[in-house]
Amino acid sequence: MSTTATLSVPTPSAAFETSTVERRAVGEHDVLIDIAYSGICHSDIHQARNEWAEGIFPMVPGHEIAGTVAEVGPGVTKYAVGDRVGVGCFVDSCRECENCRAGEEQYCLKGEVPTYNGKDYDGVETYGGYSKQIVVHEDYTLGIPEGIELDVAAPLLCAGITTYSPLHHWGAGPGKKVAIVGMGGLGHLGVKIAAAMGAEVTVLSQSLKKEEDGRRLGADHYAATSDPETFESLAGTFDLIVNTVAATLPVDKYLSLLRLDGAMVNVGIPADADTYHAFSLAGMRRSLAGSKIGGIRETQEMLDFCAEHGIGAEVEVLAPEPAVIDEAYERVVGSDVRYRFVIDMAALEG
Ligand code: NAP
Ligand code: ZN
Ligand code: ZN
Repeated sequence: MSTTATLSVPTPSAAFETSTVERRAVGEHDVLIDIAYSGICHSDIHQARNEWAEGIFPMVPGHEIAGTVAEVGPGVTKYAVGDRVGVGCFVDSCRECENCRAGEEQYCLKGEVPTYNGKDYDGVETYGGYSKQIVVHEDYTLGIPEGIELDVAAPLLCAGITTYSPLHHWGAGPGKKVAIVGMGGLGHLGVKIAAAMGAEVTVLSQSLKKEEDGRRLGADHYAATSDPETFESLAGTFDLIVNTVAATLPVDKYLSLLRLDGAMVNVGIPADADTYHAFSLAGMRRSLAGSKIGGIRETQEMLDFCAEHGIGAEVEVLAPEPAVIDEAYERVVGSDVRYRFVIDMAALEG
């Protein structure tokens, strides 16, 4: 066991404070990671504020982790001390169910072990990346390729894979018209990745405030969803819509933007339920779907793809101070982030 410094929320919606947690001793197949940067995902906020379900408190959020290997267990073969590595949203899964065997561990039938706000299979609470060190099994650790700096790599571990996976699964590529709804942490990476896959990309944002950035990141078109004209001019246009919005939306309006056989995939997970009318799907054989992060193999594939295409997140680096993180949470909720906050965990004292 070792003690590591953390930033934690003691009770739901409370302010952040500095604290410590115990990390398990480095086991046969574990790696001990010195965390350099940890991204702030909107999912951290949903959980720290109990917007999805009862959380486990105190909570140390953080599932966009990038750092270097400080120690390895005797049986570790994939990583060595000094390697640049990442950890995403889960740190274990049953390895035996059909989904795990298919490399889709994020859909483990026993329930994968979340990086924080969960319990491992021995019943021990998990604590995430807003900390200086973490111990993770090598099989649930990703390699960060040369060419991506650790600060811009961290958000790829959740925001990157969460957009890459549906884009890949639903065939984004040359000849396909893809819309990304919401240009926040997930959305801005969705734009970069969809453009790199060769799709024709449209951003659907609440306003045109970030249009210049959107086009710089690779969007061919940019439209404001606050303008009713957008839904008229783009009706029946898209093969694929990836919805990254953390709030409920008028789903029927968005479905009307899909062409025959088009699919709208929700990756945003608002606290409340959306509603839609069956006509919006039946009329054009449309699909409404959802997608959750990605498996380990696909996450590594995404990291390699991003390295090859020079893709990292656009980040604002934060000092590891409780008041700074509290303010950052408010800015994320207010759609005032360009485009991902990452916390400089190495600077945390202790
Ligand atoms: P984010 O940085 O806050 O981005 C969300 C974006 O949605 C905002 O930047 C804003 O973009 C738009 N938006 C916000 N409120 C809106 C509203 N009321 N109406 C319309 N648009 C609105 O959040 P994120 O970290 O990207 O996460 C987004 C969602 O995905 C969260 O619900 C998160 O929990 C979820 N998530 C899911 C997975 C998964 O595996 N499925 C993984 C990670 C995160 P504009 O300013 O451009 O309109
Ligand atoms: Zn996340
Ligand atoms: Zn499983």
